[in-house]
Amino acid sequence: MKSFTLSHSEVFSILFSGISEGALIVNKSQQIVELNSSAAQMFGYEIDELKDQHINVLIPKNFHHKHESHVKSFIKKDERRQMGKGRNIFGLKKSGETFPVEAGLNPFEIEGEKFVMTLITDITKRVKTEKEILNLNASLEDKVQKRTKDLKNSVEELSELNELLKDEIMRRKKAEARIKTALQKERELNDLKTKFLSLVSHEFKTPLSGILTSSTLAKKYTKTEQQDKRDKHLNTIKNKVHYLTSILNDFLSVERLETGKFTYKFDHFSLLNLINEVVYNANVTLKTGQIINYPQDLDDVELYQDRNVLELILSNLLNNAIKYSKEDTTITLDISFDDKYLNFKISDEGIGIPEKDQQHIFERYFRAENALLNQGTGIGLNIIKVHLDNLGGDIFFESQENKGSTFFIKLPIKHDN
Ligand code: ADP
Repeated sequence: MKSFTLSHSEVFSILFSGISEGALIVNKSQQIVELNSSAAQMFGYEIDELKDQHINVLIPKNFHHKHESHVKSFIKKDERRQMGKGRNIFGLKKSGETFPVEAGLNPFEIEGEKFVMTLITDITKRVKTEKEILNLNASLEDKVQKRTKDLKNSVEELSELNELLKDEIMRRKKAEARIKTALQKERELNDLKTKFLSLVSHEFKTPLSGILTSSTLAKKYTKTEQQDKRDKHLNTIKNKVHYLTSILNDFLSVERLETGKFTYKFDHFSLLNLINEVVYNANVTLKTGQIINYPQDLDDVELYQDRNVLELILSNLLNNAIKYSKEDTTITLDISFDDKYLNFKISDEGIGIPEKDQQHIFERYFRAENALLNQGTGIGLNIIKVHLDNLGGDIFFESQENKGSTFFIKLPIKHDN
């Protein structure tokens, strides 16, 4: 077998020919012993121009010192090392231009002599791309920040707009509610008017035709001995006229109470006198066999009240008791005093008020189911309640269907001062 002996230089150039990166070998004194064409090209030299040159020709001046101490310590430790990773190192071209590089150092020894093989990559493009990416990132960040700010502004504007809209909606809702209430009131007023007109026409028709019949019949009894027959019809006429007057009074009271035109006229009057008058008038409307029980031994007391209102209250209640009771029943009127109040109690043995209707009994125009066959307007109790409220009094009742009803009135005792 044949043996060859190759010089260092020959070994190095064989090794280098297969390497595409820039490769150069420096000896202990940092002289370039060998390099490949990629390395020479990278730095802008011919290969021969660099051979035997100190490595410093390829390193920018301000890095010389650093590099030297670095390589020394590195050769001592005898380890493979990557240079330029994570920190910037630069190469120096023949033209004086510097460029970023990455270098891998591989120390080795041949026949006791130490060398370092350096593989160098020109990372100009990478650094440029990295810079571009950094710039791009920065401008992207700028854009994102600007957009975020714009977005924030838009959100703020929108939320302000939202608030304004909310206010507007609220205002409109309020206006709508006001209009609705006004409409509702108008509707109620119209309903009342319609109800009122139909009540008037209905309630007047029957008594008026009764009056007509009675007067026609009375006219037929021309003889003197037929006086009792004439009296009967005249009595009927008187009753009906009385009834019509009371309805008219009720309607007038409602109208005046409603429009605030009602003024109370307080005066001194005798209670006994008033009771006698009310009972006397009620007696006229009694059905056959009905009687009114009322205190006969009443001490005469002088009251200071609105006499007409008290008369209206008592006669309304007595008329109801008569109207809603059958023949041969007793109606009782009781009167009592305590420290502050004058109390009336009017009881009957009549049809009573069905339990389900009791809660509505003081509402205007309300009439209980079992009362509809009797004439009536549903106004009286409502007026009484309004008057008593105005005068600081009260009204309440107890009633059982088909057994009877008792109405209680409390009226504060007033003094003229
Ligand atoms: P009206 O008697 O003209 O209908 P009111 O306001 O006086 O009107 O009474 C309202 C309703 O209360 C009556 O329709 C009737 O249903 C009921 N009511 C009042 N008083 C009595 C009573 N004494 N007994 C039975 N029901 C009564």
